[in-house]
Parts: sequence; C-alpha cells; structure tokens
Amino acid sequence: MTYDWFAGLVFFGTLTATTAIGRFIAFRIPSVREMRELNDSADQPKLARRSYQEALPKNVRAAKWQALGFYVLILPFCVNLAGLPWWRFIVDVVAVLMLYDLTYYLTHRFLFHGKPLRKIHALHHQARKPTYVDSLYVHPIETLIGQGLFQLSIPAVALATGAPLNVFAMVVATQIFVNAGTLNHVWVDLPRFPFKWLQFLTTGHAAHHVDMNQGNYCQITLLFDWLFGTYEQPVVRSEP
Ligand SMILES: [Zn+2]
Ligand SMILES: [Zn+2]
Repeated sequence: MTYDWFAGLVFFGTLTATTAIGRFIAFRIPSVREMRELNDSADQPKLARRSYQEALPKNVRAAKWQALGFYVLILPFCVNLAGLPWWRFIVDVVAVLMLYDLTYYLTHRFLFHGKPLRKIHALHHQARKPTYVDSLYVHPIETLIGQGLFQLSIPAVALATGAPLNVFAMVVATQIFVNAGTLNHVWVDLPRFPFKWLQFLTTGHAAHHVDMNQGNYCQITLLFDWLFGTYEQPVVRSEP
C-alpha cells in the first residue's frame, strides 16, 4: 500500500464539508432544534462544575491531536479514489464499523469495567443521566483507546481485503462512528419516524449509564450485547 496524499486530503475535505452540511440541515428541523435547546439547558449546570471545566478541554485536545496524527500518518496508506461496485462500498463500511464495535465491546466490558481501567472510566460514569456534554466528559486515556480502536479498524480491513478502501466509504464510516458516540449521550424525546432510531440509540446507552454494573457496552449497535448476554432494556426518561 502506498501513501496517497491526495486521497488523504479528499478524506479530510469531505469529512469537514459533510459535518458542516449535516449540522446545517439537522438544525433546520424544528424538533431537532428543540432537542438541542433542552440538552443545552441541562448541560449548563454541569458545565458550571469544576470537574467538567477541567476534563472537557483535555479530552477534546487529545481527541483532535490523535485524529490529526491518524489522518496524516496512517489513513493515506489505507484509502484511495478507485471506483468500487456499490456493494463493496456497503460491505467495507459495515466491516469497519462491526470490527470496531466488537473490539470496543470487549475493551469497554473487560478493561473499562474490569480492574485495569475502571477508575479512568468512572469519570464518564459520573453522568447518571447523560445529556450532550457527557459525550465529551471522558478521560483522555479512554478517548485515545476508543478512537484508536476505530482508527485501527480501517487498516485492519484494508489489509484483510488486500487493497486500500474507498475514501468516501471511510468518510461514511467515520461520520457514523463520531455521531454515534455523540448522539448516544443526548437526551431526546422523538419516538416517531424518522427519529425512532435516535431514540433507540440514546435510551440504550442511557441504560448503560444507570450505574457501572449495567451492560449495553457497544457503541454503534447493541448486537454484541445481544449475542453475549449483556443486553439491557432501554431507559426512557421523560425529561433531561
Ligand atoms: Zn461504561
Ligand atoms: Zn457513555
């Protein structure tokens, strides 16, 4: 595999543009805007606490530097602009996300909730009723491990298939990874189409936050929780 700097640039540009366009479109929807306002007001008292003020910038800085390093040093070896049949596009996205969800499930269950890193993970679990800001209230070591697992899934799938992956497929996978980790912490009350999936995501992770003995360790789907017997029923809160 060669270093395709142009594909790396295309990845970064497309990721940035789709993030801006996605936010613009999502917050034009009145019910989504209303949910953002409700999360914002629930976040305010949390943000006034010293622990949040200290933890948030450290975590965001660690995540940004790690992502930048990955985009510059590793990703250009793993992506290119070669055309693919449509089904390969889907298979590659699903393969990267499923490999990540499995490795994250195991890490979350046995390292973050086991002896080795329980204390570090306990910071994030101070949030018993998560809202938007709690997606960032994470110890930097936990972020580096979690984000690193996703990033390693890309070269792993590229090596398994024997060729670089399509750059746009990896933008889609990255958007799903980033947004799932954020959205599963927001509080929403949108039980109908087309937002039912969002409600499912947030109430599933809310069950994990009830205390540190709960299952639902996956981040993207709850497939491995369901398979390995750690699935918890969703927790629906009537307010943030
Ligand atoms: Zn946890
Ligand atoms: Zn969480």
